Amino acid sequence: MRKKYVVSVDLGGTNVKFALVKGKKIISRREIPTKAYKTKDALLKGIVGEVREIISALQTYEVCNYKPRRFVKVAGIGIGTPGLVDYKKGVVHHLVNIKGWKDVPVASILRKALGVPVVLDNDVNLMALGELAAGAAKGAKNAVCITMGTGVGGGIIIDGKIYRGSSLSAGEIGHTPVTLKGPKCNCGGWGCLEKYVGNKAIVGRYRGTFLGPRQNHSGATKLRLTPEEISRKARRGDRAAVRTWKETGECLGMALTGVVNLLNPEVIVIGGGVAGAGKFLFGPLRDTVRKRAMDLPARTVKIVRVKLGNDAGLVGAAELVLSGLRIKN
Ligand SMILES: [Zn+2]
Repeated sequence: MRKKYVVSVDLGGTNVKFALVKGKKIISRREIPTKAYKTKDALLKGIVGEVREIISALQTYEVCNYKPRRFVKVAGIGIGTPGLVDYKKGVVHHLVNIKGWKDVPVASILRKALGVPVVLDNDVNLMALGELAAGAAKGAKNAVCITMGTGVGGGIIIDGKIYRGSSLSAGEIGHTPVTLKGPKCNCGGWGCLEKYVGNKAIVGRYRGTFLGPRQNHSGATKLRLTPEEISRKARRGDRAAVRTWKETGECLGMALTGVVNLLNPEVIVIGGGVAGAGKFLFGPLRDTVRKRAMDLPARTVKIVRVKLGNDAGLVGAAELVLSGLRIKN
């Protein structure tokens, strides 16, 4: 059967990414800064315009490939978005940086404007689906995908499908408590993993301003130092940088020990800026899981970095459309 085309959209906080995907392969892409769309209506109108252009360019692409046909249709539009999403209703509850965004029925608005099915999901769920389809978790049935940045997000795949939980909020590994007491978190809890292995904590560890469980690491945002820079320093032999990754790996390893014991996944895929730390992070991380997790699941699990990188979410969005998921809108 001919592989169908899908238009994937990734509504990121910095950029809105668009891609034409054929099967699991990205054929073309474009990126627009999110700040170009100031309001809800501007963003929705912008998406409609871009998707129309991509569909019209698809006609030219098909003709160039000597497959002239009357009109090539796309199977649907797949959209990934950060935060809370009701994939069943096609509603995005909240979108940072966009004024007036509250409980917007994105799928139904876009379906009416474009005349094709529209599905959407949390971006980390789609990243997990993409890595499962064509990336580091290819062929796995049970996998956990973790994305690390300012926040720490997770997507869980069980039996080849996204596990969403009873109120669709599963996967929030960044808000797993890793200590009895600890810094307050904007999720409402305290002592969350994100406060220990998020970008701010990593930079704070390097600077020596990470003050441990009872205090916030408020000095961490001074000057611009990124995990990528700390990775470069580690490769040049900077001992503080090596120690930073060791501590981060051990702390993440502690949380992943829980994941390994609880879910017994075949693979845990890690993405985001920290993945570039390579052996400096993954060494202590794997060691910790090997030592602390139960023997059988610890021997089974592979802990690897993402393969598709920023493309994972776009491929995953196409997978979601092609999986035949339909929503009522
Ligand atoms: Zn939290």
